[in-house]
Amino acid sequence: MAWYPGATRMELQPESDSQPAIRPTQFIVHSIVAPWTPQRTYEYWRDSTNLESHFGLGYDGSLGQFIGTHTRADANAAANRRADGTGAVSLESASNLEASDPWTPEQVETLIQLGVWLHKTEGIPLRICRTADDPGFGYHRLFTAWNPSAHSCPGDARVAQFKTVVFPGIVARAARQTTEEDPMAGITKQDIHDAVWDIDDVAAGSTEKNPGNKTWQPQTYLKGTFENTVKILTAEAGQTAAITALAKLVGTGVDTAAVVAAVREEIRNAVVNVHVDVTGKQV
Ligand SMILES: [Zn+2]
Repeated sequence: MAWYPGATRMELQPESDSQPAIRPTQFIVHSIVAPWTPQRTYEYWRDSTNLESHFGLGYDGSLGQFIGTHTRADANAAANRRADGTGAVSLESASNLEASDPWTPEQVETLIQLGVWLHKTEGIPLRICRTADDPGFGYHRLFTAWNPSAHSCPGDARVAQFKTVVFPGIVARAARQTTEEDPMAGITKQDIHDAVWDIDDVAAGSTEKNPGNKTWQPQTYLKGTFENTVKILTAEAGQTAAITALAKLVGTGVDTAAVVAAVREEIRNAVVNVHVDVTGKQV
């Protein structure tokens, strides 16, 4: 069963537990011929009849849900639940006592939002039902199979609104939300970092000792490359310093110990400088 987060849950028992499951493929709207709030509609279903709709919509746009959308509700005759297990999600809306008034702007807005949710959550296709069994959106009097007692429900004004405002509004809103959905929504900088650097799917380097470890993380290569660069620069600086020191001493006649001491001192200074240059200024 599914409960719409935009509705106040007013679960109707025993129907909610006792009625069979459906796979919702249609959304059918009604007028209840009374100016009722969702709470009053709930009390009517609970106390006065064994019929019920899934949703009740007040004049102010407030919405109550009485039955989960994967459970049969008894508001549209043959569409409630068919032999193949499919069925309709139904909504009763507050109206005047003749069901002749149009939906209020608040009711229209709630109908559109709920319609979009049913499309996205239940996969109800964005079309007006072409037959009584056809998945899509409709209103009670659209098919005799849904309305065998020939009620005018939901009334002429609302049928016109359904065709010109409510259903087109559902289609437009669903399309807009689809194009506006950000594919990166909810992805953090850390997620991106981990996806790039922590993913363990690069072939392991030739120095890998463990035959079972076939892959490395990219950051392993990056860190290894940096450390080896420091080693190479250090060795190169030391060699240059040694060659330079030796060149200065050629022909000066100093003894071997003095040569070694002088070269070592040059190497030490050079290597310190390499570490300052390479490792001391990174950000
Ligand atoms: Zn009806």
